[in-house]
Amino acid sequence: MGFCWPEDFPLIFERSREGRRGVRPPGTRDADAKALFGEENLRARAPRLPEVDELTVVRHYTNLSRRQVGVDTTFYPLGSCTMKYNPRVLEAAAARFAGLHPYQDPESAQGALELMYELGEYLKALTGMDAVTLQPAAGAHGELTGILVIRAYHKDRGEAETRRVVLVPDSAHGSNPATAAMAGFEVREVPSGPDGEVDLEALKRELGSHVAAIMLTNPNTLGIFERRILALSEAAHAAGAQLYYDGANLNAIMGWARPGDMGFDVVHLNLHKTFATPHGGGGPGSGPVGVKAHLAPYLPVPLVVKENGRYRLDFDRPKSIGRMRSFFGNFGVLVKAYVYIRMLGLEGLRDAAAKSVLNARYLKELLKKRGFRVPYDGPTMHEFVAQPPEGLRAVDVAKALLDEGFHPPTIYFPLIVKEALMVEPTETESKETLEAFAEVLGRIAERGLEDPEWIQGAPYTTPVRRLDEVKANRRPVLRWRPD
Ligand SMILES: *Cc1c(COP(=O)(O)O)cnc(C)c1O
Repeated sequence: MGFCWPEDFPLIFERSREGRRGVRPPGTRDADAKALFGEENLRARAPRLPEVDELTVVRHYTNLSRRQVGVDTTFYPLGSCTMKYNPRVLEAAAARFAGLHPYQDPESAQGALELMYELGEYLKALTGMDAVTLQPAAGAHGELTGILVIRAYHKDRGEAETRRVVLVPDSAHGSNPATAAMAGFEVREVPSGPDGEVDLEALKRELGSHVAAIMLTNPNTLGIFERRILALSEAAHAAGAQLYYDGANLNAIMGWARPGDMGFDVVHLNLHKTFATPHGGGGPGSGPVGVKAHLAPYLPVPLVVKENGRYRLDFDRPKSIGRMRSFFGNFGVLVKAYVYIRMLGLEGLRDAAAKSVLNARYLKELLKKRGFRVPYDGPTMHEFVAQPPEGLRAVDVAKALLDEGFHPPTIYFPLIVKEALMVEPTETESKETLEAFAEVLGRIAERGLEDPEWIQGAPYTTPVRRLDEVKANRRPVLRWRPD
């Protein structure tokens, strides 16, 4: 049994009583099974499944779900993840398409294709790109798609052998260097300056005919807008490099500024962050990739095209990098993004972005008053990176927050800030929630400084107390085994 299972919470297996059962679905009697599969194909011994009645199953899972922490239960300021509220109406919209089959004749799925086409047009308009694929299943998958597109472009120009390097700032999300390495590139790190923005002079020194691409996010992972982005993109293009935009932070600027206008050649978006799909726990995501015209021929197949008012899937694209995923992407997520964009409109999207920035700036000021430090206090956008008062560790503050019913912020990221607390409140939180959170953090810090033993022992009220994180990483117990 997993070492982190709450001791007072019996496993469904432990509730099993021989011969007890809930329902017997029609067609599952032994005689039916014999007729259906042939006796020789039936298993000799029954599987070791728990034998429980229906009510026990309902209570077990309902009680488990009540121990779940999520945006629906509490403030969830997990930096970089944009854990905003996702309106329920989007689920209803996605459910309308549940009857579609991916092998359906496109002629009989014109509405679905129209939705994909239109969503692509909206994303192009919001990012300033010329073509888009909706296929990638997540942000990191979009990164891989975008970098493979860049690789194909350089190869087509006969520069694949020389352009072997991808530049990544030291504040980057770990998926950026991982993507570049997976695509076979050598990764070189570019330092940030004292203001938290990319050190432009250091970047220029790295540029040359060996550089294939630069991967950036703007605002960057410190939540700071890169003000020298135009000079940076000019220098990159002068050296023949392509500029890749990690769109995980688009929530801060959607409707106000476009990566395409900043000089980016490729962008991925995380629909499950910016465009209102619930995420966490590895659920379905979506990472569309937009490119400028010169990279469009390399996008994955198929693309949805519109001809004479009809939609079809275009597979005839000889320079395409091929398929990145089965079928056409996580279609349900595409529906939610489409409806979210239609619901809010351009003004609504701009308002959401502006409020995400306002909330982050307000919370940052509240925390500074409570003794939290902000090492890079530049033009904060939708998130900021703070440090607890001197003498406290980020992990202890995060654990103590659990006792107060808040999900902690991201900690120890970005790597360039010691004891980092990366806070992203999002636009859907009220002023009262932000104030309550700052108040609680202030109290935790005060008590933690007075009583180190207390804060190092937190959390005290959660179903599972502090985990052995090294053991959880090295020896994860991912499923139940009979003793
Ligand atoms: C979340 C995130 C990613 C990766 O996106 P996934 O959808 O989780 O694969 C990449 N970069 C940044 C900055 C992110 O916040």
